[in-house]
This record gives sequence, C-alpha cells and structure tokens, in this order.
Amino acid sequence: MALARHHRIIIGIQWFVVVFYLSLVIIPAFLPLPPEGAHLWDNLRLFAQFAFWGVWWPGVMIATLTLGRVWCGLFCPEGTMTEWASHRGLGKPVPRWLKWSGWPFVAFVCTTVYGQLVSVYEYPKAALLILGGSSLAAISVGFIYGRGKRIWCRYLCPASGVFAILRKVAPLHYRVDRSVWDNEAHATIAIKQVNCAPLVDIRRMTSAAECHGCGRCAGHREAVQLAPRIPGTEIIDLRSKVTTAEAVTLLFGILGVASTAFQWTMNPWLVQVKLKIAEWLVERDSFALLQDNAPWWLLTHYPEANDIFTWLDGALVLTYVVGGGLLLGAVLSLGPLLAAAILRDQRLPWQRLTMALAPLAGISVFLGLSMMTLTHLKAEHLPSTGLAICVSACSPSAQAPPCGSRCASFCWPRPGGCDACRQWLAWPCRWRSCSRSGTRSFCLVARNDGHDPNPIRQQPPVRAMKVTEKAIAKQKLCSAQKIDRIIE
Ligand code: SF4
Repeated sequence: MALARHHRIIIGIQWFVVVFYLSLVIIPAFLPLPPEGAHLWDNLRLFAQFAFWGVWWPGVMIATLTLGRVWCGLFCPEGTMTEWASHRGLGKPVPRWLKWSGWPFVAFVCTTVYGQLVSVYEYPKAALLILGGSSLAAISVGFIYGRGKRIWCRYLCPASGVFAILRKVAPLHYRVDRSVWDNEAHATIAIKQVNCAPLVDIRRMTSAAECHGCGRCAGHREAVQLAPRIPGTEIIDLRSKVTTAEAVTLLFGILGVASTAFQWTMNPWLVQVKLKIAEWLVERDSFALLQDNAPWWLLTHYPEANDIFTWLDGALVLTYVVGGGLLLGAVLSLGPLLAAAILRDQRLPWQRLTMALAPLAGISVFLGLSMMTLTHLKAEHLPSTGLAICVSACSPSAQAPPCGSRCASFCWPRPGGCDACRQWLAWPCRWRSCSRSGTRSFCLVARNDGHDPNPIRQQPPVRAMKVTEKAIAKQKLCSAQKIDRIIE
C-alpha cells in the first residue's frame, strides 16, 4: 500500500538511479586506463566496474531471491526509461512475433556470450556497448510499442527470463484473493484502474514470475496484498504455470551457458587445447586464426593492457561457453525428463520438475557474480581473505607455493588425488605458477609478471595463454620489441 501511495517518491528514486547508471556506463568508457596504484575509491573506471559487477548485479540477484522482482519494478533504469518512452511514443500494438516466449532465453545467451568475447566485466567500452545498447533498445521498443507499458521488460529483456525463474523462490509475493476481487460490492464503487506496466493479468495471477513487484496494485479492490510465503512454494504449487521456455532458460541458460561463462577463465584444459591447436596451425603455416586483428567490439582488443584475443581465442571461448553450456544443460535435463517419464503424472511434466533446480540456479549465478566482488577486493587488499575459500587441491610439493601474498584465498592442501582433479581445482595456484615459473613460455595475451599489469585487475588464469617462443616468432604476432617486453 505504501508503494502505491508514494508513487512520486518512487519515480524520483527511479530517475536518480537512471542518472547514476548512465554516468557509470558512459563516463568510464572515455577515461584512460587507471594508473598504477589506482584504487576503487579514487578512480572512476575501477569504481564503475566494482559498482556494476561487484555490487550491483550480485545485489540484484540477492534481492530477486529474497524480495522478488522489486529491482525490476522499482529501480531498474531500463524499465524506467522504456516506460517513460512508452508514455510519449507511438503506442503501437505489440506484434505477435515479439510475444514469442523464447526471446528472453535467446537474448540472455547472446548477451552472455558476447559479453565474454568483448570482456564486458573488464572494459568500460565493452560495458557501454552492451549495457548502453540494451538501454537504447529498451527505449526504442518502449517508444514504438504499448502506451505506458514495459514491453521490453516483459518480452525482450535478457535478464527477464532469469529473474522470472529466481523470483519463484522468493518468500514474498503479491497475493490475489479472487473471491474478494469478484465481490459484487465492488461493482457499485468506482475503482481506479491500475497500470500494470509489465502487462500482468492481475486478477488471474497465480505465479509471481512476471510480476515486477512495483506495488501499484497493492490494495486494489482490497484483494491484492504483499504476503509472505514459504520459499519455493510456487515451485511445488501445481496451479502455477510453468512453460517450456522457462525450463529451457533454467537448464540451458542459467545452469548451462551462464555457468560456462563464469567458469571458462579458470579452465586449464582450455589453455591446453589452445596450445595444441596453435601448434598444429603453426606446423601447417596457417596463421589466419592466430591473428589478433579483430576490432574491440568483436573480440577483446586492448593492446595498451596487453589483453588481446586472437581469432582462435574467440572461437575457443565461443565454443566452450555455448557448446559447454548446451551440453551441461542437456545433462541436467536428463533428471527431470527421467523423473517425468517414471511418474507419468500430467500434473508433473518435466518442465515443472525442472523448476526444482531454481534454487541451485540462483546460488550458482550469485556465486559467479561474487567472483567479481572478490577479485576487486583482493586487488585492493581489502579483507576478502575470509570470504574467498578456495578449495584448492594443490599438492604441498607443487611447483609454486600454494598461496602467495597476492592470493587472498584459503587453500586446502590435499595431497594425492588424480592429476585432472588437481589441475581443475588448483587454478589460482596455476596462475601464479605461470607468473613465477622459470620456463621459456610466456604470456601471449596478458602479462603475469607479478605486478598486475592489467589495470582492470582481472586475474587472467586462462588469458595467460602460452605459446612457445618458436611459435610466436614464426607467427610474427608480436614485434621483436613486444616479445622483449613480454619476456622482460
Ligand atoms: S501485478 Fe501489481 S505489483 Fe506486479 S507488476 Fe503488476 S501492478 Fe506491479
């Protein structure tokens, strides 16, 4: 009720968020690289990165899991802008193609993969391209379709599908009492209509997935109110609707592609594959894939930060994130499919059973985003030591010390175990091993010489993709000066 009453204050807050968001997206893209020794609190580029990826997005995930989609309804700058444009736009009816339920999944996968290719977490220009592009699209869609609605948020927003699923877990929702709503006494009173911007059929609302929690309908016809519920109630409620698009987004989007996107930089096997392919190409005098001439808006290309993707890097990242994500999703879908086949209960199709994985998806995406928070805190030597529990399987006899001063993680030395498991789990140590080893291998894409040359402070375990000295010379990817600099 309070939300419905204080509409003007909420609008004021929303526009404050819009200004703050646009400042953080636009200004850092035109600033130079942070100087050596810059901190989060004295450099806008670093501050914007930390604010977006270290605080903003993990915070949004927590808010969605606990309070529902209040972020969408009350604070999201794109929602505010698209609704504002919609009030002043053409007001065209929403075409059928735009209502396709698969758009949020497609948009989520595309932005996630593209974000990895251009390193959206590390570079403000890439963030401006993706976040700014998304905002422009939101405004354009709002301007063309609907009148005072959030068509973009309802049908196209890349995060909408994810939020709709995580929202099912939240212990708060707007409950509609149909008997009170239909009470004939209301027929004699003039009741002000509610503008539900994301086009929810409030009277028939049984799922909170599409409700943005804006509170405008709170108290409407005395039938709608914010109410607590047991977390996950909606998942087991047989009356609530579950679509195939939601199940696919959960399996292949959040648990699949998002997981591989968070994880690829830590996978040592990817480096090995890259090395093998690079050597194979070099032996055949085929250097096209080893060129690093892609523009920054297609593949990461920041020579000033020694951070450049070759075409081969791009192809491998694309294959790993998309292929690995789809494979992971397919494996995870076996459980619900098998259970549905055994149960043979029409009320429990595989789509509904898949929703049991929603809490896991919420935790996984939150932990993935929290890596950014910890990376930034570690770079600042802030007390993240107690937070980053790296369950590392480093052997005490490993080449590099299990935990150096720069690693604020807490390693768990575990002698024994298979080599593959050790390699997989010991990625922070492998990164240092690269930086400290005395071998002639060196980093092609990013330097790891112990003083964190990348001002963006990304710890690049996989970007430290090594190739042999001979290979580099043969490829002529680096000038003699560049090689000297790298070796140095
Ligand atoms: S159902 Fe009510 S609270 Fe939810 S988005 Fe619509 S108006 Fe806002």
